[in-house]
Amino acid sequence: MLIDTHCHLDMEAFDNDRDEVIKRAFEAHIKYIINAGSDREGNIRGLELSDKYSNVYSAAGIHPHDAKTLNESLYNELKKWVKHPKVVAVGEIGLDYHYMHSPKGVQVEAFMRQIALAREAALPIIVHSREAKTDTIHILREEAGDVAGVLHCFSGDMEMAKEAMGLGFYISIAGPVTFNNAKALREVAAFIPDEFLLIETDAPYLTPVPMRGQRNEPSYLSYTAQAISEIRGVAASDLARITTLNAMRLFKIGNISRQGEIVYKIRDSLYLNITNKCTNKCGFCVKSRTSYIKGHNLRLEKEPSALQVIKAIKDPKAYKEIVFCGIGEPLLRLDVVKKVSKWIKENGGKVRINTNGQGNLIHGKNILPEFQGIVDSISVSLDAEDEKKYEKICKPAIKGAFQGVISFIREAVKVIPEVKVTVVKIPGINIEKCRKIAEELSVELRVRDFDMVG
Ligand SMILES: [Zn+2]
Repeated sequence: MLIDTHCHLDMEAFDNDRDEVIKRAFEAHIKYIINAGSDREGNIRGLELSDKYSNVYSAAGIHPHDAKTLNESLYNELKKWVKHPKVVAVGEIGLDYHYMHSPKGVQVEAFMRQIALAREAALPIIVHSREAKTDTIHILREEAGDVAGVLHCFSGDMEMAKEAMGLGFYISIAGPVTFNNAKALREVAAFIPDEFLLIETDAPYLTPVPMRGQRNEPSYLSYTAQAISEIRGVAASDLARITTLNAMRLFKIGNISRQGEIVYKIRDSLYLNITNKCTNKCGFCVKSRTSYIKGHNLRLEKEPSALQVIKAIKDPKAYKEIVFCGIGEPLLRLDVVKKVSKWIKENGGKVRINTNGQGNLIHGKNILPEFQGIVDSISVSLDAEDEKKYEKICKPAIKGAFQGVISFIREAVKVIPEVKVTVVKIPGINIEKCRKIAEELSVELRVRDFDMVG
C-alpha cells in the first residue's frame, strides 16, 4: 500500500483516460492520491476529481510558474477552495528560478501569501523549489513557523534537505531517483531519516525507470518505491509502511492506529517491544523525537505479558531472528525476556537482545548466566569511550553505569555465543577508542549512523 502524495491528474495528458488511470492506480495498491493544483482551471478540475473519487484528495494552490495570475479574485477563490473537505494541503506553491515564467518578486509574494493562507486554513504546504534553494529556505524559516509541509520532488542537495528537515519539513522523492545520473539524489534518498520521507510520482512528469519515455501515472509509484527501498536497505513493504504513515500524518488522511505494537517486522526479522521505559536518556534516542520506528507505532499504553508476546509472535521459525528491541530497555523486564526467549528457542527460533548493558546494575546481580542456552546473540550499546562522555550523552539514572556496561559485556562473552557492541556516530565520540575497548573485550564493534537533524 502506497500513497502518491503528488501528481497532476487534472492535466491535459490524462484527458483521454483519466478514469482508467485512477482505476489502475488503485489496482496497483495506491491507497490514496493527492492531486496538486497549479493554475486556476487545474485546481477546479482537481477538486472535481476528489469529489468524484473517495481516495483522491486535492491540494489547492498556484504554482510559481503561474504566480503572476494570483490576483485578488483568484486569491479569494483559493480561500474558498482550501475550506473544501477534500483539500488536504495548500500547493503546489514555491519558487522556480529555472524557467522564470513569473518574475522573482511576484513568485516570492505569491509564495508568502499562500503560506499565510495555509496557516489560516491549518493546512500543510506542498513546496516546489527549483534553483531557488536560498530563497526557499529563507522564506520557510521566516514565514512558515508552525505551518508543516513537504519539499516535493526534491532535487536539492543534502544541505538543503537538512535545513528543510530542521524546519520540520518532509522530503518527497520522485522518479528521478531511478535515473542513471541521479547519484546525488540517491545519496539524499539514503540519508533522509524515516520520519521525514515521502514519495510521489509528480505524474504526468518524471516517469521512473523502466517506464521512462512514457507518460507517468500514479500506478508507476511502485518503481520509485522499489528503488528507494533498495537504496535504504529495507524491504519494499517497510518503505511502503514508513512513507504511508508519514503521508497520513502530514495530510491527516486515512486511519492511523493509535495502539502501540507489541511485535513488529522489519525486513525478515521480528522485533519485540516489551517496554517503553529506559534507565538512560540518550540525546540521540529516537524516542525523544517520535513514537514510530520504520512506520510502526511503538508507544505502549500497557506493557505486554510474556504470554501476550508469545501469542503475537506466532511462529518463531518464520523469522531470521527475533529481537528484543523497542523504544525502552528490555532487561528492565527480565522475567518476560527469559520466558519468551525460552519459548522461542523451544520452537526453533533465534533470539537476540538489544540492550543498554545496564541489566546487572538494574537487578543488582549478574543476570547473564540466566541467558545460557536461551539467547543466541546480544548487542550492547557502548555509546562512548569513557565514563565522562557516557554520562553526558546517555544521562544514565544509575550511578557507575559506564563501568557497569563494560563488566556486563565481559560477563556476556562467557555465556552468549555472539556479543556485539554498538556506538552511534555523533560529534565528540572517539570511535577509535571505542574500537580499542571492543578489541580488549574481544567483541565486534558496530558503528551506527547518527541520523538526527538540526
Ligand atoms: Zn508537481
